[in-house]
Amino acid sequence: MGVREGFEELYGAAPEGVWAAPGRVNLIGEYTDFNEGFVMPFALPHTAVAAVSRRTDGVLRLHSADIEGPVVELRIDELRPRTDTGWAAYPAGVVWVLREAGHEITGADLHLSSTVPTGAGLSSSAALEVVTALALNDLYGLGLGRPELARLAQRAENDFVGVPCGVMDQMASACSTEGHALHLDCRDLSLRQIPFDLASQDLALLVVDTRVKHALGDGAYAERREGCEEGARQLGVSHLRDIAYEDLQQALERLSDERLRRYVRHVVSDDHRVDRVVALLDAGDVRAIGPVLTEGHVSLRDDLRISCPELDLVVDTANASGALGARMTGGGFGGSAIVLVEAPEADTVAKAIEEAFGAAGFTAPRVFPAVPAAGAHRVGRSAS
Ligand code: ADP
Ligand code: MG
Repeated sequence: MGVREGFEELYGAAPEGVWAAPGRVNLIGEYTDFNEGFVMPFALPHTAVAAVSRRTDGVLRLHSADIEGPVVELRIDELRPRTDTGWAAYPAGVVWVLREAGHEITGADLHLSSTVPTGAGLSSSAALEVVTALALNDLYGLGLGRPELARLAQRAENDFVGVPCGVMDQMASACSTEGHALHLDCRDLSLRQIPFDLASQDLALLVVDTRVKHALGDGAYAERREGCEEGARQLGVSHLRDIAYEDLQQALERLSDERLRRYVRHVVSDDHRVDRVVALLDAGDVRAIGPVLTEGHVSLRDDLRISCPELDLVVDTANASGALGARMTGGGFGGSAIVLVEAPEADTVAKAIEEAFGAAGFTAPRVFPAVPAAGAHRVGRSAS
């Protein structure tokens, strides 16, 4: 059953509209977004799809086809940050943040279903926030641009749900276009759509969901973030983005300890890797980005130390079996990796990874090819 029919069954009337917002993978630029640096994600074909109608009585009704349980009913003037409403905190947080920003939202009915795997580092949470934000923007005629919607969605996750994420995931979901990677400056949210057409080059990009999520993740993210902020403080800049790659060695010598040196080296060199990938794609040399991806993984593994045995096994096995390059993507400690391969080699490399996981006694990974898909959009018009 589609979300339109599901909505009708739940709420007894057709929705005013249906919207979709995708998950993402990040090609390069990890833990750089909150350092006001550069990232390069692209949208997956997997989307959160929501059927939504307005209400005038201050009530918010939320339902997910993917979660066991009844409709969550909330009063929008009683929404309070960090009060545990489970999954519903994501769409409720968007309503809260829009109202905090002065937009008049008088209620909504929402029913959604998503094909973005949850907790796999593919941003199912951002898809949920962005689909809600776009639906309300359209229904209430708020006139907000995509970057503004992404910023509000991020704030919903930061301030309402309580997850201190950067802005990359929401920007990727809100602003991606089909066939392109999104070159994003996380300082001013300026962006450029970079053609990333793998098929015409006879290349493929595999996403490998390791299906592990290590509990270590949440605290470690905050610790890396604080370390980066401390590094910036010691270097006398507002964010690590302000350290030029050419000045990296000199900057490292000015830092108080080895841990901060590793974090700073990762962030400044990953910003530089984004530049290098952009230059290679602009030059049409897609194959040459492979080693840069692997270099990024080594930096995340050895300097930022956010990888795990499963992610390392994906990267090592992929590269040993003929891939052009590979790296973990997203927050780390589990989640997904990406692998760039010659298209005819994709099956062989996928099989090698699956076999290596079997031999190591790991849970079988989920492997699928990813083609850059569209960002958030309205899906169709209801008759009413
Ligand atoms: P990621 O964004 O990497 O997938 P997160 O932990 O940030 O992982 O977000 C996952 C959370 O988002 C889930 O635990 C759930 O609360 C919410 N979520 C994602 N998809 C859905 C869905 N289809 N229905 C309900 N909640 C969802
Ligand atoms: Mg998330």
